[in-house]
Amino acid sequence: MRPTIRLLILGKQGAGKGTQAARVSAHYGIAHISTGDIFRDAARTGTDLGRKAGELMGRGELVPDDIVVGVVAERLAQPDAGRGFILDGCPRTRGQAEALEEIIGAGALEAVIEIEVATSVVMHRLSGRRVCEHCGATYHVDAPPEVSWICDACGGDVVQRADDTEDAIGRRLAIYEEQTRPLTDFYAERGLLRRVDGGGAVEDVFARIVAAVESALAPSSGSAR
Ligand code: AMP
Repeated sequence: MRPTIRLLILGKQGAGKGTQAARVSAHYGIAHISTGDIFRDAARTGTDLGRKAGELMGRGELVPDDIVVGVVAERLAQPDAGRGFILDGCPRTRGQAEALEEIIGAGALEAVIEIEVATSVVMHRLSGRRVCEHCGATYHVDAPPEVSWICDACGGDVVQRADDTEDAIGRRLAIYEEQTRPLTDFYAERGLLRRVDGGGAVEDVFARIVAAVESALAPSSGSAR
């Protein structure tokens, strides 16, 4: 039986974290935990948490650490996460990274994958991105659904995310540089960081990620990091 695999995926907005995390989750049979998806679901259902998160998300700002940490701790306590997970979109601040270490224990992660993509590329991806409101399938103005803005997969409406406007994108990328980028040092110091080139076809990036995870799982990986 495979050992439990616990991974984080870091990268700028538009680097392809969600797409790749979904594939990694299917490949290893581990839970895909996306804090962005959790907050978007909460916003749709209109809970108190959802209203607050929805407002912040729309402006491209971060949800406060105490809320994020509570939501993630609850999700990680579910049985599927006990069999392994890939955490996507969290941590985004040093406070969240430290809290996560307390929740799962120091040394519990197998690897932290950072997907590297140039800012000009993510700007193009995000400003043209369109998402199915119902199933979350992602399109682009350069690669739309077959029937005008109706999801090919489920027939739902395909729309622009509120935080994919130019203003919000600018704010999100600035926050990434300021608050999330320093986490690469946090994880490099722990010997966990694996950098992966996020350019090119989705399949090629996925193959690079799997190679990075496999090398982290290899018994001699300590010296290779
Ligand atoms: P994402 O889909 O990961 O880009 O997340 C969408 C939005 O959800 C972000 O712009 C934040 O407003 C909020 N969010 C998601 N994850 C976090 C997190 N770990 N910390 C703070 N805010 C978050």
